[in-house]
This record gives sequence, structure tokens and C-alpha cells, in this order.
Amino acid sequence: MKLIQCKACDRPISPLAEACPQCGAPNSWRHPLIDAFYVAKDAIGTSRPFTFRSNKTKIWGETKAQAPLRAKLFAALVLVVVGLPAIAIWGIVGAFVAGAMSVVPIIVMGRSEKFSADLDARTWTSSNDVFWRPVKEKLQL
Ligand SMILES: [Zn+2]
Repeated sequence: MKLIQCKACDRPISPLAEACPQCGAPNSWRHPLIDAFYVAKDAIGTSRPFTFRSNKTKIWGETKAQAPLRAKLFAALVLVVVGLPAIAIWGIVGAFVAGAMSVVPIIVMGRSEKFSADLDARTWTSSNDVFWRPVKEKLQL
């Protein structure tokens, strides 16, 4: 990467250095696209809110896990259709089995979406590119 100037002593340093090797001043540089992302973060139009973190060249984030209504309805259906007969036949064991089965759609359908990007290497990975498209565009990836 191209060297930058230390803000304290003006000597050239690596943008990736945590501190200037000559004068010890902390180096607060981060990739300009990450800076721009922090400025625009409240206006990035994903359909669900997300949190993110970054270092100098990498940025990564995720949504909270959130089961959609259809997953909850499906779970309730499983509980009634499978659960009631299972309880009638196996009692308490049947109740545990039905409870465990009804949680599966909520876990699967309500999983958290994740992304990570490396602005230096120009790499991008995500759990769902359609969901993360506004983030990907903002990072020009
Ligand atoms: Zn310095």
C-alpha cells in the first residue's frame, strides 16, 4: 500500500501501522470507503437494521436473528399437528419432541444475515447478497 504522512511528525509511514515507528503517535488512518461508510451508515437502505465493526481495511456486520411471522406460524402449526398427537401417545417425551421440532423453523428462517469485506484486497462475502446489496454498493464492491 502507498505510504501516508504521520499526522504528528509528517514522516512517511504505512497506513496499516497502529502507531508511527519514528515518533510513536497513533495512526488513525482507515480506508476512505470505510470512512464514507461511517458517515452514511444511517442512510444505507437495508430492509432490516444491522450492526457493524471495522478495522483499517476490513469491515464486517450482521443483523439480529429475527424469526419472520411465517416461521412463527409454521412453528405453531407443527406444535398443534405433531405436538398434540405426540403428547397423547408419548406424554412428556412427546411434548419435548414436538417442542424441539417447532423451534427448528424459527432457527432456520430467523437466522442472522452477515457480511464481511476487505477494501484492500477487494473481497466480499455475505450470507445473502440480495439483502446486503446497498452495503456492497456503498463499499463499491
Ligand atoms: Zn510520526
